[in-house]
Amino acid sequence: MRVLVIGSGAREHALVLAASHDPAVTALACAPGNAGIAAQAEQLGVDLTDPSSIANLAQQWKADLVVIGPEVPLVAGAADAVRKAGIACFGPSAEAARIEGSKAFAKELMAAANVPTARSEVVDNPAHLDAALRRFGPTWVVKDDGLAAGKGVVVTPDIEQARKHGLMLLDGGHPVVLESYLDGPEASLFCLVDGRTVVPLLPAQDFKRVGDGDTGPNTGGMGAYAPLPWAPADLVGTVVARIVQPVVDELAKRGTPFSGLLYAGLALTSEGPQVIEFNCRFGDPETQAVLALLRTPIARLLYATATGTLAEQPPLEWADGSAVTVVLAADGYPGKPRTGDVITGSEAEGVLHAGTRRRDDGAVVSSGGRVLSVVGTGDDLRAAREQAYERVGKVHLPGAHHRTDIALRAVRGEIALPTS
Ligand code: AMP
Repeated sequence: MRVLVIGSGAREHALVLAASHDPAVTALACAPGNAGIAAQAEQLGVDLTDPSSIANLAQQWKADLVVIGPEVPLVAGAADAVRKAGIACFGPSAEAARIEGSKAFAKELMAAANVPTARSEVVDNPAHLDAALRRFGPTWVVKDDGLAAGKGVVVTPDIEQARKHGLMLLDGGHPVVLESYLDGPEASLFCLVDGRTVVPLLPAQDFKRVGDGDTGPNTGGMGAYAPLPWAPADLVGTVVARIVQPVVDELAKRGTPFSGLLYAGLALTSEGPQVIEFNCRFGDPETQAVLALLRTPIARLLYATATGTLAEQPPLEWADGSAVTVVLAADGYPGKPRTGDVITGSEAEGVLHAGTRRRDDGAVVSSGGRVLSVVGTGDDLRAAREQAYERVGKVHLPGAHHRTDIALRAVRGEIALPTS
């Protein structure tokens, strides 16, 4: 099988690495890729915002399977273009990708499927913002209706800050979504979905804020771990039955079936799991932890998802133990990151690349905000965490920052589920 992965983050590096271990894979390419991915896959050029550029590349390279990592090409219709070219594609249609592309659409879908989620209102006129804010909070949750790479959300006990963020989004022409605050630990559940059948992966938790102790602004994600030692044993079954399958069935009923990876971002509240958001693709950085534990050959699995044959697959196999990933971010991230710094130690085991490129002189340099994801595994979460941080210590990027508390509260047994 010739597999083409689209994207350039550590998530795509994790997908490429997993595919490189699948004996069914005879050729592997990634576009646009990065300096680390180039060690396992042929690196090709592509315009991520142009579906026809992706479909043409897939045809020219004679791909048997295209795996689309990021949300931007999916929302733009890249999977539709690839399928139209007669090539199997892992990733939802533009219609189904609206579950991530528009929070208002996701809310309407969840209401139709009777799925538990926060109460919400869309505001598109600044004159209506104050009255709407009074119907929520404290705590206030203010979101950009469209794609914002995890950075469009402000969660705050301060109504002034909520108002400022809302006005800033509205000024930029973006409708604002206000939500009731969901209290409880967060979990991410990734599910392979082939239009009908749902196959859940291990649950994970990610860390969105830039600073230790969940301080500072939201980012694309600063670290993650899987599975969740503190989660109730029936978490995955409950989330599939009450949340994922109903949404998958509703999309199928509407004639816009979801095929690809459906990511449920959850708050485990005293009333049970509730949806914070859906994403239409593998999450970054949870993927780096989850795939480190997957033993089932991945390309066959993604191909089965893309071709509607998940129900015929044997159960997934997982390594015992845990995985932790820690993101190394450039100076300035999540604001304007500094780029062009020389990185050393990034070829080591467990180091996945994101914003990196190889300079003409052969040096690996930073080229984005989140630069590397460092993964550790172990028999338990404590061991996985130790290995991840030991590996972080061996990588050098001037000015880089990372969180030092990824998975720490879980290791210490400090995460408690709220009781009703
Ligand atoms: P989102 O981009 O919707 O995933 O939001 C980013 C982060 O903001 C989430 O991971 C949560 O930590 C937080 N958040 C979003 N919506 C809510 C909510 N309704 N209640 C509590 N926290 C939220």
